[in-house]
Amino acid sequence: MPSPLELHAAWVYTGDAHSDLLKDHTLCVDENGKIEALIPSQEAPRDPRAQQVELNNHLLMPGLINCHGHAAMTLLRGFADDLALTPWLQDHIWPTEARWVDADFVTDGVNIAMAEMIKTGTTTFSDQYFFPDSTAQAASDAGMRCQVNFPLINVPTQWASTPNEYLIKGLAVRDKFKSSELISVIFGPHSPYSLEEDDIAKIATLANELEMGIQMHVHETKSEVLHAVEINGERPIATLNRLGMLGPHMQCVHMVWLSKDDIRAVADSGSHVVHCPSSNMKLASGACPVNDLLKAGVNVAIGTDGAASNNGLNLFAEVRLAALLAKLTSENPASLNAKHALHMATLGGAKALGLDNETGSLEQGKWADIIAISFDDASMQPLHNPISQVVYAGHGAHVQHSWVAGRHLLNDGKLQTLDEAQIIRRAQAWRGKIASNANPTKSAKELA
Ligand SMILES: [Zn+2]
Repeated sequence: MPSPLELHAAWVYTGDAHSDLLKDHTLCVDENGKIEALIPSQEAPRDPRAQQVELNNHLLMPGLINCHGHAAMTLLRGFADDLALTPWLQDHIWPTEARWVDADFVTDGVNIAMAEMIKTGTTTFSDQYFFPDSTAQAASDAGMRCQVNFPLINVPTQWASTPNEYLIKGLAVRDKFKSSELISVIFGPHSPYSLEEDDIAKIATLANELEMGIQMHVHETKSEVLHAVEINGERPIATLNRLGMLGPHMQCVHMVWLSKDDIRAVADSGSHVVHCPSSNMKLASGACPVNDLLKAGVNVAIGTDGAASNNGLNLFAEVRLAALLAKLTSENPASLNAKHALHMATLGGAKALGLDNETGSLEQGKWADIIAISFDDASMQPLHNPISQVVYAGHGAHVQHSWVAGRHLLNDGKLQTLDEAQIIRRAQAWRGKIASNANPTKSAKELA
């Protein structure tokens, strides 16, 4: 159990959209890892039982929430770059995964992903990958908060062979981590095009009955939408709506090619959107119409996607890119200001994952999921506006401390729950194995 904390910070961003930046405040955390109070530093109790942390030139803020990724794919960082989505998946990623992905691959991949995420300010991440029990265990061991969306796909892998087997194994992961305060488990149907309608309808029914969330790649590419219209006579969003998938429990990832009717359906249903700007740009998929979604009242969160299509897991880089891309696509520099972009990666992210009563902002009673960013570096000076600085200048490089539920995960830039040197050695060993067998055992045709 962590000791109580008193964090004395020069600036505090609470994540609450209605509250301004606070100057010289102290955040008190109780021994259960919950936020107890946020008060002016001159009124701080300075309780001798509490650990005192002086953050004299820092911004204290909620930890970032990376709402979409495939952490284990970090072992494929830089493996197949500069390709379009379909050949990238079918000719490179899927065959390599078929050859190498097992529980050890996932544990080692998730560990190196978490090392990078913690060091760049993420405290909660959402993950969709095979062997989700290994992901959940690794996150729990490292002390990170994680939404595991167990995969459902009409492609046999080492983890499961049929959509029904994916479902049975995924629900077993949910049961295993049911009492965890860090891990939540939801459905992760890969995409509308990789499952039959009957399977999608079944997931929608189960999600309602079990009150579980759903995360799915939706409208990632133009060809996906056009192909669906050709085959089904309707756009994927219309199909998902007809099958009962949309609703406040639904997290639609990417959402690049959207009509006015698509946006209306998402807004009316209360579904959430997870914007992954780097991945969409790198795979030349297009740009999610964030301004139009926000205008329609949709909650938009941010994700990195997997390191194989990004190639990093630094959510601050995505926040900056989301703000810049929104300005570029709207031809309006006032679009998506720094504060709003940061909100999307904190409380907006928590809302998308259904965790906004637990994390995402610095409010009494919530978990102490907190980061402290230093302004000491030359690239962070002079300091006219702390929020602008962390969004447009910082890029996550100056995160000095991180706590999840009051547990110190990063202390003065050093990981406290992960052995970084060992994690790097294991990732290098995987690189050697993958490189030594460039001809995977299963062809792309077998998998498609
Ligand atoms: Zn993805």
